[in-house]
Amino acid sequence: MSIQQIMTQLIDGKILSEKIRAKIIEEVAALKQSKKITPGLAVILVGENPASQVYVRNKIASCEKVGMKSFHHTLPESSTQAEVLQLIQQLNQNDQVHGILIQLPLPKHLDADFLLDQVDPRKDVDGLHPFSLGRLAAGRPSFVSCTPAGMIEMLKDIGYDCAGKEAVVIGRSNIVGKPIALLLLAQNATVTICHSKTKNLSEKVKQADIVVAAIGVPKFVKGDWIKPGAVVLDVGINRGTDGKLVGDVDFESASKVAGWITPVPGGVGPMTITMLLKNTLQAASSTL
Ligand code: NAD
Repeated sequence: MSIQQIMTQLIDGKILSEKIRAKIIEEVAALKQSKKITPGLAVILVGENPASQVYVRNKIASCEKVGMKSFHHTLPESSTQAEVLQLIQQLNQNDQVHGILIQLPLPKHLDADFLLDQVDPRKDVDGLHPFSLGRLAAGRPSFVSCTPAGMIEMLKDIGYDCAGKEAVVIGRSNIVGKPIALLLLAQNATVTICHSKTKNLSEKVKQADIVVAAIGVPKFVKGDWIKPGAVVLDVGINRGTDGKLVGDVDFESASKVAGWITPVPGGVGPMTITMLLKNTLQAASSTL
């Protein structure tokens, strides 16, 4: 093993999640005691996508473990736009519900953008309402999409100062790429957003002190693209041909060069639900 390999540090999302969840448990208990409020999260699942069913089950179980209430609404695949809208409106009015999450993807016949826009922005714990995204872009306090929020917690936890650093974000989705780019900008990094039409991608990544890979292509980012000592945050969750989970970064080669790297599984993934719990607590405490 080379000296470089020994110096590479794993950023363990499971350990950090546990630490944050322990604090959430205390804060939920304090909120119940002081204000008689139990934070409540409503999750809307339309249809029977097996991956979505697993995600929703995990979200519900996580809520219960930290002492929050959960409200699970499963609607049939054939639900109309009006039926989903009616449920969102009911949840917007329900005082016991502080956060509303619409599990994506929605069936193709539904207009996801329209439905996301109907969530009360005060309950937008997934940070996908244009109100939240707009406030984030303006550098104002807002609900932030959970996966990007989790990555910022990881950088804080390793004591990484982003100011003046070059950050390259690969991917420009509303749920990961754009919000993490805005968050890194707010931390004073110089941010380049790359995507499927970007030219000379590997050359851009080679300049980066911070690399965020949110592409959805297994092992896409290679070790020889990584600047020695860089922080590599791998968002990708891809199922390999052997059934195992792999990230968007070729972990084997990248971990020999990076200063810090998140594994898949056990890196960015576990942080996502933790940040959902944190956002729900924030919504219930009305601290925004
Ligand atoms: P998306 O499909 O919405 O976006 C993918 C992005 O990658 C696009 O912006 C596209 O321009 C870019 N891209 C595609 N091919 C490219 C190429 N050849 N070169 C450069 N850029 C390219 O995906 P998403 O929702 O942002 O998710 C990305 C990945 O992260 C997926 O693997 C997803 O499963 C995973 N994910 C993980 C979590 C988590 O909790 N860890 C949360 C959300 C998404």
